[in-house]
Amino acid sequence: MQLIMFGPPGAGKGTQSARLEERYGYKQLSTGDMLRELSKSGTELGNQLKEVLESGQLVSDDIMVSMIEQRIQQPDCKDGFILDGFPRTEAQTKALDTMLSKRGTTIDAVVVMEVDEDELFKRIENRAKEAGEGNARADDNAETLRKRLKVYHDETAPVLPFYVAKGVVKRIDGMAQMDDVTAAIEASLGLTGPSDERKAAPGM
Ligand code: ADP
Repeated sequence: MQLIMFGPPGAGKGTQSARLEERYGYKQLSTGDMLRELSKSGTELGNQLKEVLESGQLVSDDIMVSMIEQRIQQPDCKDGFILDGFPRTEAQTKALDTMLSKRGTTIDAVVVMEVDEDELFKRIENRAKEAGEGNARADDNAETLRKRLKVYHDETAPVLPFYVAKGVVKRIDGMAQMDDVTAAIEASLGLTGPSDERKAAPGM
């Protein structure tokens, strides 16, 4: 299964992607995590990325597209993958569609996590608190969240109609309890829980 997790910052895409990976073995590809890792490299590119991440703006489409194109060809993606944070622009969406077509595949579903904006501010504030001073993500504060939400509305949300037209969009109430959200996603994808084999050896 090839999935996209979609929704505003703080909607729970990362949490739910990690659960699906654990239960079904579809590889979670979090572009935010990949970029944060790269930004620590101390290289010129790393430092430039760090600045962009802190600002709440988007990293360039060229970088993101080549990052994903290389990543989905790795052997750990052969049983499927979950794009968590990609595509975020129309250009990324077109590029993804082209790269998958070339491989003779497509996106099976786009899971849209719907969460009220007030709740997003609460969650980001909590996430920063839980991380503790000095460890929180540089973009997890109310001011940068406002910018990230604007970017989401202006650049990312407009890609949805493309997938709606393909009939692959699943809307999920992201305000529900975490386990209920997982169950709703599984139901929308026709998944019925991990196989016995996987239960015995998760992370296979
Ligand atoms: P969230 O979903 O909470 O906003 P992420 O961890 O997915 O956070 O992303 C953090 C930051 O990484 C974004 O604000 C952006 O700067 C950058 N980023 C992640 N994915 C992309 C992408 N596909 N295109 C451009 N920038 C990206």
